[in-house]
Amino acid sequence: MFKETLQKIIKEQGTQPFEDVMRMAVAYYYSHHHVFGAKGDFITAPEISQVFGEVIGAWVIDAWVKMGAPKAIRLVEVGPGKGTLMKDMIRVFKAVPDFMNALHIHMIEQSEALIEQQKILLKDVDNVRAIVWTSSIDSIELDAPMIVIGNEFLDALPTAQYIHKQGAWFHRHVGLSSNGDFLYKDISCEMPRPMQGEGVFEISIPRETFIAEVARLIKRSGGLGLFIDYGHVTSAYGDTVQAVKDHAYADVLETLGEADLTSHVDFDVLQQVVEGQGVQTYPTITQGVFLSRLGAYARAKALGDAGVDRLISPSEMGALFKVFCFSDKLYPLEGFI
Ligand code: SAH
Repeated sequence: MFKETLQKIIKEQGTQPFEDVMRMAVAYYYSHHHVFGAKGDFITAPEISQVFGEVIGAWVIDAWVKMGAPKAIRLVEVGPGKGTLMKDMIRVFKAVPDFMNALHIHMIEQSEALIEQQKILLKDVDNVRAIVWTSSIDSIELDAPMIVIGNEFLDALPTAQYIHKQGAWFHRHVGLSSNGDFLYKDISCEMPRPMQGEGVFEISIPRETFIAEVARLIKRSGGLGLFIDYGHVTSAYGDTVQAVKDHAYADVLETLGEADLTSHVDFDVLQQVVEGQGVQTYPTITQGVFLSRLGAYARAKALGDAGVDRLISPSEMGALFKVFCFSDKLYPLEGFI
């Protein structure tokens, strides 16, 4: 059990930074639970409607054409969950044989349990050259342009929380009460980045390191990155860490390792990070605007699919979720022009 493991670590080594606890809890959770779908804890866009994967699949083909239709292209999905987004994209890819001939698919996943699920879901996908699974993006060869896609991946990477109150900074840790419950311990610290204002400020070094690596690889291989997640386009104070279990919010510390644990992505910072690697960026737009511009409603109508509203409506996922894109060169990419 995760709870006992963490209690032991804290007893032996003292309070642990929240970001380390989140990293361990997320890894445990994705390896041990039925995470997605109606029977799981939460539902993601590809599980809500097949239109999500289909319009993004069409977007990928269009991007490939705008890149000059290279003879080989590597499509890399990070954190593919059940594999539904890839499955829906491949259905669209099959309509374009030249693209299928160029395509090499890479799935980046750390959970063995999810890799098994992805393999089962994608086993009937014929005509696609063998899909390669790896746990890290560094192992991909840079001999062809890459399109790197991640939906609700960045939010699962751990974040640190820094708290500014009464002129002093504190770094959030997790400790133990005398009866063994987890509790927050905020430890006095130097803030790693100069900031004005009061409250909780979140910094996710793993997210920044990961996105910098993607930008660095794309700069070398050519291609682009497309990341969809909830978050903000302007850095701001706020405690955005949340736990979701059985489709409802849960207490973060009471459900460590048992609930989906995420925080909002600071796209402002990520944009600066990728620009530092010399890639081009596009204005970060909302998921609602992106999917509407790609014709999601027309496709939904043709299918009689009701889920798309939930993806586009500003009061549901349409406004909170953002689409962040960067590339080696500026291309007139659908949705961003
Ligand atoms: N993209 C899917 C799943 C999102 S959940 C969907 O939209 O439904 C987050 C996914 O990222 C899971 O597949 C999880 O196992 C994976 N993940 C989390 N941290 C990871 C890491 N450090 N490296 C690789 N995959 C990770």
